[in-house]
Amino acid sequence: MGRILEAKPVIQTIKEDLKQEINGFVESGIKPSLAIIRVGNRPDDVYYENSIVKNCESMGIWPQRFILEQNISMDDFIEVLNIVNAEPRIHGIMIFRPLPRQLDEEILQHIIDPAKDIDCMNPLNQAKVFAGDMSGLLPCTPAAVMETLKYYQIGLKGTHVVVVGRSMVVGKPLSMMLLKEDSTVTICHSKTQNLPEVCRNADILVAAIGKAKFIDDKYISDKSIVIDVGINDTGDGKICGDVDFQAVVNKVQAITPVPGGIGSITTTLLLKNVVQAIHLQKSRHYRNDFNHKDLH
Ligand code: NAP
Repeated sequence: MGRILEAKPVIQTIKEDLKQEINGFVESGIKPSLAIIRVGNRPDDVYYENSIVKNCESMGIWPQRFILEQNISMDDFIEVLNIVNAEPRIHGIMIFRPLPRQLDEEILQHIIDPAKDIDCMNPLNQAKVFAGDMSGLLPCTPAAVMETLKYYQIGLKGTHVVVVGRSMVVGKPLSMMLLKEDSTVTICHSKTQNLPEVCRNADILVAAIGKAKFIDDKYISDKSIVIDVGINDTGDGKICGDVDFQAVVNKVQAITPVPGGIGSITTTLLLKNVVQAIHLQKSRHYRNDFNHKDLH
């Protein structure tokens, strides 16, 4: 049976490190704070929000909820966003998405302060990842994959990693992070030819497809380390991954489970980004009001 790469010890280690940093901030008079902006009352959003709030409170981060009417106008939403952008006692901002139609995410992503953008919406933060600069606010799901590989001491240098999925949320940024660690990365998508063969050649196979149990034993070899990013509703109140866990677990070297794998680490990394945001806000290069004249 392959080694099961559980999220629990990964989360525990990240939280221990974070707790120390948060205590340090509190001692120096900074009370870390996260603004959560939710529009409407979608049950999924409310559930996720409650879990973030609980996590914040357990870590000494002060959560502040901004709950807005479903029909809020773009102007009114921008006004709220500008308030949280400007409020020095707020260090991180999380906007629940998808937003209702009248709110244009393409515009809003440019308005959120990049130094508070803990969900990596702002193109500036995305561009840094694509430029190989991992010192900013990293997208949480790809970062959860990297934290898992690091915790389980899975070396990346020179490995061939196949990432199935090329979304801006998971596949593409993750591929850049792996490249930065000197992996050779193959990015696959729905038009890739001979996908099972390409996947079988991977040392590490990442599934970020959005199709329940898509990856089965045709896609793996006995050397595969399989990272399952997928979260799919099974219809009976449970979730499953993009990998058919039962079909491959006895044939691979290691595998992340679903639930209890990558998805469980994401919320902890949002909190890690709040801490990172505090560091960045001390650096003027990240401020929205950054002016090139400041350099002279
Ligand atoms: P997405 O935007 O729908 O992208 C899916 C990707 O999979 C696309 O690039 C698509 O290719 C590719 N794909 C679809 N069918 C394929 C096929 N038959 N063969 C090969 N590639 C195929 O999804 P996403 O947002 O990246 O999410 C991917 C998965 O991760 C989902 O299960 C989602 O629920 C999960 N997720 C988890 C977390 C977490 O916290 N763990 C966070 C976000 C997402 P094309 O580009 O050609 O269409």
